[in-house]
Amino acid sequence: MKINIIGGGPAGLYFAILMKKADAAHQIAVYERNGPDDTFGWGVVFSGKTLATLREADPESHAEITRTFEAWDNVDVVNRNGKISIHGNSFSGVERLRLLKILQRRAEDLRVEVNFRTEINDCDSMRASCDLLVAADGVNSSVRQAFAERFQPALDVRPNRYVWYGTNQLFHGLTLTFRHTATGMFAAHSYKFDKSRSTFIVECDPATWSNAGFASLNDAQTRTYLEQVFAPDLKGQQLLSNNSKWINFLLVKNANWYFDNVVLLGDALHTAHFSIGSGTKLAMEDAIALANHLRKRTEISKALEEFEATRKPYIEEYQSAAFESMRWFENIGSYDSLSLLNLAMGSMLRSGRVTYEELRERDPQFVRLYEESK
Ligand SMILES: Cc1cc2nc3c(=O)[nH]c(=O)nc-3n(C[C@H](O)[C@H](O)[C@H](O)COP(=O)(O)OP(=O)(O)OC[C@H]3O[C@@H](n4cnc5c(N)ncnc54)[C@H](O)[C@@H]3O)c2cc1C
Repeated sequence: MKINIIGGGPAGLYFAILMKKADAAHQIAVYERNGPDDTFGWGVVFSGKTLATLREADPESHAEITRTFEAWDNVDVVNRNGKISIHGNSFSGVERLRLLKILQRRAEDLRVEVNFRTEINDCDSMRASCDLLVAADGVNSSVRQAFAERFQPALDVRPNRYVWYGTNQLFHGLTLTFRHTATGMFAAHSYKFDKSRSTFIVECDPATWSNAGFASLNDAQTRTYLEQVFAPDLKGQQLLSNNSKWINFLLVKNANWYFDNVVLLGDALHTAHFSIGSGTKLAMEDAIALANHLRKRTEISKALEEFEATRKPYIEEYQSAAFESMRWFENIGSYDSLSLLNLAMGSMLRSGRVTYEELRERDPQFVRLYEESK
């Protein structure tokens, strides 16, 4: 089979690897507009369950990913009253660039043709020259846009602003920090992803963003401002920028996931709010699901039909939990008077993916403390 893949992010590279593993005779080409070392973002998060799925799909890359990752089991919630740790949550963090390098090397070893610094603008000739065109070209997918009538995308720009930074301050656990200022409430989502760095995402509502005057601050001024807001947490460490900019979260859904020989994958197909840390996980699981269906079926159209039919319900459920989590953060301005325990309980139950009873099983002491405080 001849497969063209637009986008050398986690979805595109992992799909190429799995297909080439399944049959070395497949001719697979990945087209990536950036160079092999250019990337945005800092660390990516995987749950223990996701890592088990990755091990089953490709033990070689799984071994590399887990060689230097940082693992934790606690979610820490911090506000002006202090900090509380909730245990029993298995997660790990790995640097995004390291993950991409592992996947690039694995693809090369399997003889996938990876064309860096190659931007694809002509989707029609791309799809005419292969059996299957995979659009793994990210949240602003140009393939999705070019064939919008076929995919019927629904795009929803959310009101909160957020920005991805790194920092050398280490956050041991997924740390949710809430800081109250005269201009409004800020939330930070942070976690370490190697021995010396953490991801530090800052989020605020539109009123807080305008009150703070970020529209007229440059990158350095913005970081100085936020370093002051989070001074008790950063403990003198700076925020590190990697072309970091304020953005609005774009919620992506598509009524149709494929047409003829073109299929969407990863962020091009769907997004889930970063507060449930799952963009990379979902992208790689999409790759596993699509590769499995193509392995089972000789007819590409049947495989695509089954991919959509079986994976869509799972993604819809995931997006609905992520939506609840996103809405919870969109309302942070109203949590000003909540006690630390109430804030922590609200944040643990926000997506509906963990029930009160499951939380009691994960961390009975936390639930007991909460009940005693009422
Ligand atoms: C600014 C930003 C920072 C982020 N940081 C993090 C983070 O620190 N941790 C985390 O877990 N998640 C992060 N994410 C989310 C995460 O990157 C995605 O959910 C995940 O990477 C999805 O994988 P993907 O392969 O579908 O898309 P992507 O990783 O976005 O990969 C798509 C690739 O396609 C390429 N491409 C696009 N159009 C073309 C074209 N026409 N021709 C050729 N190539 C093209 C792009 O250059 C890109 O490499 C971040 C997202 C954004 C927007």
